[in-house]
Amino acid sequence: MPRLYGFEDQRLSRVRESERQATQEAVSRLLVGGQSRSAVISWMNAEGHRGTMGGAWNSTTFGRFLANPAIAGLERDPETGELRETGRPTLITRDEFEQLEALSGRKDGVPPARDDDFPYLFSEGLTECGSCHHPMTGHRSNAGTPSYRCENCGVRITAAALEDYVGENTLAELSRPGTREALEAAQEKMRVEAEALRQRIKALRASQDGLAEPYAEGQVTRKVLVAADEKISEKLKDARTRLRYVEQIVDAKLPIGDVEDLVRWWEHAPHASKRAVVGLLFDRVRVMPARARGVRGADDRVVLKWLSAEAA
Ligand SMILES: [Zn+2]
Repeated sequence: MPRLYGFEDQRLSRVRESERQATQEAVSRLLVGGQSRSAVISWMNAEGHRGTMGGAWNSTTFGRFLANPAIAGLERDPETGELRETGRPTLITRDEFEQLEALSGRKDGVPPARDDDFPYLFSEGLTECGSCHHPMTGHRSNAGTPSYRCENCGVRITAAALEDYVGENTLAELSRPGTREALEAAQEKMRVEAEALRQRIKALRASQDGLAEPYAEGQVTRKVLVAADEKISEKLKDARTRLRYVEQIVDAKLPIGDVEDLVRWWEHAPHASKRAVVGLLFDRVRVMPARARGVRGADDRVVLKWLSAEAA
């Protein structure tokens, strides 16, 4: 096993001063400077800091390093996940370590996971809040009912109401002649979009990587570097989110057969295929806020935005 970065030996009894300094600088860039992880990794690599195996840092190795409680003289209770002091030398303070955990959204060392086992059909990329246009995601209500919720403003609808309503409208569409051809054409369009998104992500990553050098050479200030990096990160996030959504639809198997088959097929279709068909028919499923307490009907709350004029 390689030694832990920042320490001279396996037993973590002595720190390596040059690596401790690099770690502290990296951590203060994250916590005080507000830099993104990728900006800090670029900085580490541009400065010539290398992992203990001699490799350049990447998001996996850097993330694992910062998630290791040993860098703050801590260890985790295997039962409860609670942090406790080991009395060994430290690279950063306990307070800094806990701030890093909060920053990465981890709790007790566990990365955030989807908190739900309900198979939400339309959670990713399709359903949006009619009030503030944020995406809605699957989330159980306090009473435990599977629901879709706007993380931004709290608009909520039960999964049963939304999925039944969208399902009925999808079925009505599938029973019309020519739908299968329209679906296939729409899927082809998305295939083209997926390729364009991949190119865009590649280009964005290249420009993000290109930021490190002018900074290392003192041509731009840290402020400029951080601002540019954040802008690119935001665009990258959007492009990746959209690509994940589009890929799900492109990769899904569409039903083969005549139009009558489509309707019968829907009832037993795999989740991914259902989601794809809906994603090929609708650009957005918009959920309006309930007008009054207790109003649960989807008919007057859900607006379906058709993807193509032909299908409308
Ligand atoms: Zn909202």
